[in-house]
Amino acid sequence: MRDEVDAHCARLYALHSSHLNCGEGCDKCCMDFGIFPVEYYSIIEQASKDLTKGQQQTSEMDCPFLVDHRCVIYAARPIICRTQGLPLLFMGEEGWELSACELNFNQFDFGEFHQENTFPQDRYNSRLYLINKEFIETLAGKPYQPTDLIPLRQLFQKYLKH
Ligand code: SF4
Repeated sequence: MRDEVDAHCARLYALHSSHLNCGEGCDKCCMDFGIFPVEYYSIIEQASKDLTKGQQQTSEMDCPFLVDHRCVIYAARPIICRTQGLPLLFMGEEGWELSACELNFNQFDFGEFHQENTFPQDRYNSRLYLINKEFIETLAGKPYQPTDLIPLRQLFQKYLKH
């Protein structure tokens, strides 16, 4: 599913390339996201060495894996991080909502957004929810509920050198 998200995002990045200013050094969308246990364990599996390269947060909202404006777990970063910068379509409290980075889409008519040129966040979130639900059932002692999210800082603290 992560590969599918990457491929979907790559198509949208190509489509919106003239508007996108995302690049190394811009970290405005990085924050201490909450992730499902299935992502938590998959990041540990893929990036356990890099997790020690994080740093203490300067504020509660900071992601500890953002060091000198770079993500030290970039290849293993959570799905939510992979979609940032793109126009995101999702169901909000009052119906469908669209979120687009104002650094990228300041010259864009929001009326031009439609199903084909936005990222369907809920479609992937639903799938991730179901994958996670199946995954947590396999964990000894069943320590998580299906809606539990783990903050990224907890991942860093687990690997903090003492
Ligand atoms: S994991 Fe990486 S991309 Fe995601 S918020 Fe942290 S620093 Fe940013």
